[in-house]
Amino acid sequence: MATSGFTDLHRLYLQAAISKRLMTEATAQDLYSRVCTVTEEPYDRENFSDFITQLNEGLNSVELEFRRAQDEVTGVPVIALTNTNGQKIAQVATRYSPTELEYFKHLLDAIIMADDEAFCISSTAALHEAGKLKNKENKAVALTKKDAEALLDRFVADQWFIQSTAGAYSLSMRSLLELQTFLKETYDDQIQECTLCMEIITKGQRCTVAACSSRLHQHCASAYFKNMARPVCPTCHSAWDGKILIGLSDRTAAPSTVWKRRKAKGTGINGNGAGGSADAAEEEDEEDDDN
Ligand SMILES: [Zn+2]
Ligand SMILES: [Zn+2]
Repeated sequence: MATSGFTDLHRLYLQAAISKRLMTEATAQDLYSRVCTVTEEPYDRENFSDFITQLNEGLNSVELEFRRAQDEVTGVPVIALTNTNGQKIAQVATRYSPTELEYFKHLLDAIIMADDEAFCISSTAALHEAGKLKNKENKAVALTKKDAEALLDRFVADQWFIQSTAGAYSLSMRSLLELQTFLKETYDDQIQECTLCMEIITKGQRCTVAACSSRLHQHCASAYFKNMARPVCPTCHSAWDGKILIGLSDRTAAPSTVWKRRKAKGTGINGNGAGGSADAAEEEDEEDDDN
């Protein structure tokens, strides 16, 4: 279906969905029911998936798509309108100034490249990233610490990052869904996928065998191991204890020092890695430049 085939039902739903960021599946269903009522179309919750498919067929030509996933932390099904063009992070770019966008990219890079698949950075490390942004004309620091703190709050309020109770920043479901194509194309094999649902994973469990590629979301692991007396890895079949985690749990403090994982030359936003070196893991100075 091309967008020309959209009815009032499609148009109205799209208008309402655009103003939301990320919806739970339940909210999206509720919206569908309300839009059906307004447009006097019959509502059947069984038709919701077909309706989303119709919308996606129409949106295809404008590189937009509704994507569904389960929240990495809660396991709740969610849905978001996303950009399928991986070259752009237009959704972020239109809301922030070039300097703010630059900071966003630095944070994204530090989170993805955090050592040992922690996929998060401490607030100290996040502020340290701001100190690296220099004003192009006079080489002065582009963001003061105060600006950076306010901006971090904005990124969290806009649901791009989530902040743990211990203060660590990690990727939100909004980022994982909306920036999915961009993240996969930019970071390639630094981005891990859940062995079971094949979605990006930044919080979950990994196989005890270091060479094994198995990574499982908490909710995917729970469902998969439910009826298994002795859980085994879906890939290498060795015993699975579920104790080796990726991403730091909410109550664990993120390392204040960011270790960058080895990254192949040319991958990542800054080509050679945000730290400027494509060589072995490099320790970032955690001193907090107070300017
Ligand atoms: Zn999964
Ligand atoms: Zn394994």
